[in-house]
Amino acid sequence: MNDLQELYQEVILDHNRSPRNFRAGSTANRDAVGHNPLCGDQVHVFLTVDDEGIVQDASFQGSGCAISTASASIMTEAVQGKTVPQVQELFGVFHALVTGKALPSPEFDLGKLAVFHGVSEFPIRVKCATLAWHTLQAALEKKSVPVSTE
Ligand code: ZN
Repeated sequence: MNDLQELYQEVILDHNRSPRNFRAGSTANRDAVGHNPLCGDQVHVFLTVDDEGIVQDASFQGSGCAISTASASIMTEAVQGKTVPQVQELFGVFHALVTGKALPSPEFDLGKLAVFHGVSEFPIRVKCATLAWHTLQAALEKKSVPVSTE
């Protein structure tokens, strides 16, 4: 394992051990649930989006593997303070990264999200890494049907 992989793993383990924003959103005005039957990951994403379209708060609850929990945790940190179009752009870049369609680019600072680049080598794990994001997308679109990665 090289240093970068080690760092990636460290960040994922840390967020799995102590997930950030792991709570129901008390002020949430959008929420959605998602399920990844392939792995058994479940997530409930809560968002507070203000009148300007800015994400004021993001949180989640659920249970799943380390990748899905860490991804949800890092996602809730990453989207706070962003506008809805910025969140969607971030998801696009993140999705390209985890599916191996793009490399981390210096032009777009993914922050901790870059640690999920390693997931692209494990196709079965891609759904774990993107579940929270698909669920967040559903919350933004106010879909009432639970999200499934299948
Ligand atoms: Zn999983």
